[in-house]
Amino acid sequence: MEKMYDVAVIGAGPAGYNCAINFAKQEKKVVVIEKNNLGGTCLNCGCIPTKFLWQAAKTKQKISKSLEYGIKANIEPINFHDIITKKNRLVENLSKGIARLLTLNKVDVLKGVASFKSNNTLLVNTETENIEISADKIIVATGSDCKSVPGIEFDHKKFISSTDALNLTDIPKSMLVIGGGAIGIELSSIFSCFGTTVTLREICPQLLPNEDGELAGELAKVLARQGIKVEVSCQNTLKDADNFEKVLIVAGRKSTVQELNLKNINLSLDKRNFVQTSEYKTNIDNIFAIGDVTGKGFLAYTAEQDAVNVVENKVSTDPIPKVVFSFPPVASVKDINFDNYKNIVYKKSMYSSNARAQIEGERTGWIKIAIDKDSQKILGVWILGANADELINICSVMIKANMKVQDLSKNMFFHPGLAEIILETIKN
Ligand SMILES: Cc1cc2nc3c(=O)[nH]c(=O)nc-3n(C[C@H](O)[C@H](O)[C@H](O)COP(=O)(O)OP(=O)(O)OC[C@H]3O[C@@H](n4cnc5c(N)ncnc54)[C@H](O)[C@@H]3O)c2cc1C
Repeated sequence: MEKMYDVAVIGAGPAGYNCAINFAKQEKKVVVIEKNNLGGTCLNCGCIPTKFLWQAAKTKQKISKSLEYGIKANIEPINFHDIITKKNRLVENLSKGIARLLTLNKVDVLKGVASFKSNNTLLVNTETENIEISADKIIVATGSDCKSVPGIEFDHKKFISSTDALNLTDIPKSMLVIGGGAIGIELSSIFSCFGTTVTLREICPQLLPNEDGELAGELAKVLARQGIKVEVSCQNTLKDADNFEKVLIVAGRKSTVQELNLKNINLSLDKRNFVQTSEYKTNIDNIFAIGDVTGKGFLAYTAEQDAVNVVENKVSTDPIPKVVFSFPPVASVKDINFDNYKNIVYKKSMYSSNARAQIEGERTGWIKIAIDKDSQKILGVWILGANADELINICSVMIKANMKVQDLSKNMFFHPGLAEIILETIKN
C-alpha cells in the first residue's frame, strides 16, 4: 500500500535527519529513509570517529608528557582494537540519540534504499519488502562517499579509504597517505602519533590547497616535526606504493546518486555528478537537495545549516569556520567578502607569550588576524595552536557581528586563558 507524506527525506546524515526534524516541527508528516545507520558519514565514518581517535592519540601524547607536571606514568603497549571498540560504542550511543530525537518529533524512519519512481513517488527497498511512498516534497540528502584516484580501486586491505582506516584493528607499521586535505592530515597525525611511519603526499603546491599559504606552510613544518614525511607538488603520488603496508587514499569525495534511479525524473547533475542546485532547489519543483550531495560545503555543520535553510526558505551568508585536527590543530575563518577588501593589515601573536599556553605545555603556534585598515573591521583569523578548534568559534562570531578592533578590545576575557591571545593580538 502506498504511504503518503508531506515530506520524504532520503538519507539520515546531518543534513537529512535535521531537515526531517525541522519539517516535523512545522507539523508536517515526515518520513526519513536511510539505507545504513542513522547519522550518516559524520557519525559513522567521519567527524565523530576521527575526533575520537584524535582524542585517543592526544591522551597518549599528554600521558607521555606527564613528567612536565611531576607525574611519572608509563604507557603500556597500545591495543588499537580496544580503541576502535570504544569508538564504536560512542557511535552506537550517539546513533540511538538520533533515533530518539526522530521518534520524539514523530518522524517515521524507514530502513532501506530509496529510488525515484516519479517526481512525487519513491520506491523503498527494505530487507523484507518494497514500499511505495508518495510525498509533496522530496529532499535528497544522500551525502557523499570515499573517492579513489584514477587506476586504483579500494581493495579495503592495502588500498584503503578513510572509512577503512577508521576501522583498522592493528596499527600499521607504515602508511602512504594520498591527499593533503583535512582528512588526510587528520589521519596522518593520528596514525603517526600511534607509531605508524607516515608519508603524506599532495599533488598541489601546498597542503590544504584552499587555505592561507602561511598557515599551510607552518602546518607542514609541524607535521614534519612530528615525524610525518610531507611531500607537496607530488605528481606521481603512488610511485613507491609497494613499500608501504597501507595506502590510504583520501583524495576527495564522490557523489552518491547512483541508487536513486534519476533517469525516471531527469534530475540535473553537475559535471561531477553532484545534484545541481540553486538555493537548494533542483530543476524539479518539488525536489530539493542539501548537504554533501550538492557538491558544496562538505562539512557536517554546513549540511546542518542547509537543513534549516531549506525548511525556512532562506540562504546562508555566514562566515564558515574551518578546522583541521592536527597536533596542534589549525583553524581559520574569513569574512565572506574578504577578497573585496584592498587595504588589509595583519597582526600576529605567538602562543609562547600566553600564560595558559605555558601552563598547558602548548607553546607551539600563533594566531594571525586580518583587519581592514580603514574601518578597523576584523576580516579574518588564522590559528595554529592548542584549542584552535574552539577559539575559532569566537572569531567567527566576531566576524559575523561585524566587530571592529575597538569593539573587541573593550571586552574582558578570563585570565589565564588561551582566548586572551585573540585580545593580545588585537591590542598589539
Ligand atoms: C573522515 C571524515 C572526517 C570528517 N570530519 C568532519 C569534521 O570533523 N567536521 C565536519 O563538519 N565534517 C567532517 N566531515 C564531513 C561530514 O561528515 C559530511 O560533510 C557530512 O556527513 C555530510 O552530511 P550529509 O547529511 O550531507 O551526508 P552523509 O552524512 O553522507 O549522509 C548521507 C546518508 O544518506 C544515506 N543514503 C545514501 N543514498 C541513499 C539511498 N538511496 N537511500 C537511502 N539512504 C541513502 C547514506 O547511507 C548516508 O547515511 C568528515 C568526513 C570524513 C569522511
